[in-house]
Amino acid sequence: MSNANPCLTCGACCAHFRVSFFWGECQSAGGTVPDEQVVLITPHRVAMRGTEYKPTRCVALLGEVGDVVRCTLYEQRASPCREFEASWVDGQHNPRCDEARKAHGLPPLTPPIQPSLSPDRVA
Ligand code: SF4
Ligand code: SF4
Repeated sequence: MSNANPCLTCGACCAHFRVSFFWGECQSAGGTVPDEQVVLITPHRVAMRGTEYKPTRCVALLGEVGDVVRCTLYEQRASPCREFEASWVDGQHNPRCDEARKAHGLPPLTPPIQPSLSPDRVA
């Protein structure tokens, strides 16, 4: 088992799903996410730029998926990013993590994995 944060060498979820959330999370509404990094998708929801179409890749993702990646918005990232956890963190399977990794040719994570996580922090 590796103690490294698996997200730091992955980033697949940031380049697979549409990352959408309530516009109130944007800076102009008192939130944290820079307005220029989102696009309006409904009257009340925005998506991270680059995740509103296919092929998907969030503008805030730095690096190469499956190699070395980093979220340049880590401290300001939106709620779906904060809530999305790698499979087997704290023993919980996340099938959507598996799905994103598979879409990028990466194998599913296997338990156990050290708690920590998201594309920016070392375990
Ligand atoms: S964690 Fe960062 S790079 Fe990934 S989708 Fe969220 S803002 Fe984009
Ligand atoms: S949550 Fe899963 S898909 Fe997303 S970066 Fe981490 S290991 Fe990859």
